[in-house]
Amino acid sequence: MKILECTSLTKEYISGENTVKAVDDISVSFDKGEFCAVTGPSGSGKSTLLHLLSSLEAPTAGDIIYNDVKLSNYNDNQLSILRRRRFGFVFQAYNLVQELTGYENILLPVMLDGKKPDEEYLNKIIDMLGIRDRLEHQPSALSGGQQQRIAIARALANKPSVLFADEPTGNLDGKSGREVLSLLKYAGKELGVTLILVTHDLHVAEQAERVITIEDGRIVSDTKNSEG
Ligand code: ADP
Repeated sequence: MKILECTSLTKEYISGENTVKAVDDISVSFDKGEFCAVTGPSGSGKSTLLHLLSSLEAPTAGDIIYNDVKLSNYNDNQLSILRRRRFGFVFQAYNLVQELTGYENILLPVMLDGKKPDEEYLNKIIDMLGIRDRLEHQPSALSGGQQQRIAIARALANKPSVLFADEPTGNLDGKSGREVLSLLKYAGKELGVTLILVTHDLHVAEQAERVITIEDGRIVSDTKNSEG
């Protein structure tokens, strides 16, 4: 079942006299629960595509359709509610709030949404990610891998249907990168979350079920990966 789709998606940036087509006429769809990696060289438009699909940036042309509704029908406030409730985000730099403990960071999106925490669900993701003994620590007392696992729990806290990850292992050493990636993959499958992961690293991309390669803002291949 399709959850997210874009049609003829284009994003242009104008700098001085030059126009850069960061995303150039991309049409693609993602199924519920699938794990898809978007890969390609630096500057090929991966992050821009992720920002457009997740409504962090508005396209120059084309549509993004989430759950059969065009995002262009939503105003800014509705988009921020959509992002908070239906999308999760994991970034290379973890982006945790330094003043808060691990648990408070995880709870933040739930609190921002004015909801009562679902303790049972939160406990499940905390155990899944192996961070129970890290919850009372502030980010500065945690390793990179631990911080990213807290950030993944935070991204999952509101039970999103799509999780967007931009180079989530980019700041980690090989071993913790592999751990974080396999936890992300496992949690996505267990919870039925669609995972769209941007990476320039082919070793990371090959862990996905599907690999989309982009160059110069266009899709040059879209393959199912039997190993993924
Ligand atoms: P990638 O994630 O694959 O490294 P990006 O999506 O970051 O690629 O960038 C694609 C192209 O768009 C690059 O040429 C980049 O310089 C340009 N670009 C990205 N963001 C901006 C911006 N905010 N303003 C101007 N140009 C941008």
